[in-house]
Amino acid sequence: MSDKIPLCSLTLDDLKKKMSDIGEPVFRAKQIFEWVYQKGAVSFDAMTNLSKEMRGRLADVFQFPSIRLVQTQQAEETMKFLWELADGKKIESVLIESFDRRTVCLSSQVGCPARCAFCASGKEGLIRSLSTAEIVEQALHIDRFLREKGERVCHLVYMGMGEPLENYDAVVRSIRILHDENSLHISQRRITVSTVGVVEAIHRLAKEDLKINLVLSLHAPNQNIRKKIIPYARKYPLEEILMAMDDYAIATKRDITFEYTLIEGINDHSGCAQELAALLRMKQCTVNLIPYNPIENIDLNRPSQEKVARFREILEKAGINTTWRYTKGDDIAAACGQLALSTT
Ligand code: SAH
Repeated sequence: MSDKIPLCSLTLDDLKKKMSDIGEPVFRAKQIFEWVYQKGAVSFDAMTNLSKEMRGRLADVFQFPSIRLVQTQQAEETMKFLWELADGKKIESVLIESFDRRTVCLSSQVGCPARCAFCASGKEGLIRSLSTAEIVEQALHIDRFLREKGERVCHLVYMGMGEPLENYDAVVRSIRILHDENSLHISQRRITVSTVGVVEAIHRLAKEDLKINLVLSLHAPNQNIRKKIIPYARKYPLEEILMAMDDYAIATKRDITFEYTLIEGINDHSGCAQELAALLRMKQCTVNLIPYNPIENIDLNRPSQEKVARFREILEKAGINTTWRYTKGDDIAAACGQLALSTT
């Protein structure tokens, strides 16, 4: 791999500093940012208000772009983008278009260390973490694609391949860059990070000067059932994860959302709903129910619509907010949870 600096790994301040380090005028940094994030430049060559010589010098120092679109795949409201990275590895992002929302689901790693029983992304474990630029560019290139139709990306969810809190620095940095007003300027309340529950990283995130939404992939009402479907549960007990989520909620004044993927015969019976209601009783939260989306070679089933309805009714009766769309594969988490290592 080249030792050039990935341009999209840099905040505007970093870029200013780098420009100064290489003896280029610092005010050009903002122009480069504008070209990349607002005017849709795809190379230094496209930045026509910079001299040809400067463009050549910049291209020798910085790498841009870092990812390359290989394939798109459209299904109802979702469009998958398959990208190739500089080392030949592949990742996916999903664009979900509904009403006036354009949500991009970002991958944070190639593969995933969490290896949840019901998820395609973790089947082969973690291959490697993505760099900041490889995360930022997923949103950037999809934004450019949308702009051709007069639309923009307005929501970001870190629910693609990987466990975002196991790639903490790159993920947080990508959030800072994509939130910057000189970049895509995506509001923090429209940015959501989903985690399997990495306790120390949740506490750390609570201390950042960020107010993004944090979602916990809960999927079980107790540690015992959780351990059966989420190997990471052995490392982080449910009680500690919930305390960390409370810490986050208090620090950021954000409500918490729990994802609950319903899997037949495992976590979908009424007893589970009652236990879940008791577990979450005192919390300001929403439970997003996601009927399991079948994945090839995984021997699990989706519960019937009636079963999901009954589960939901128990939670609602206990005063717990729930959301549920009987999935055509268009629920955001479910659509993102389908991301596998290779689509060829
Ligand atoms: N590692 C993070 C980010 C992945 S988010 C996390 O665990 O939260 C992906 C979400 O997709 C998870 O919350 C899970 O609920 C969901 N998911 C994964 N596979 C799924 C499947 N086959 N059916 C339904 N939801 C699934």
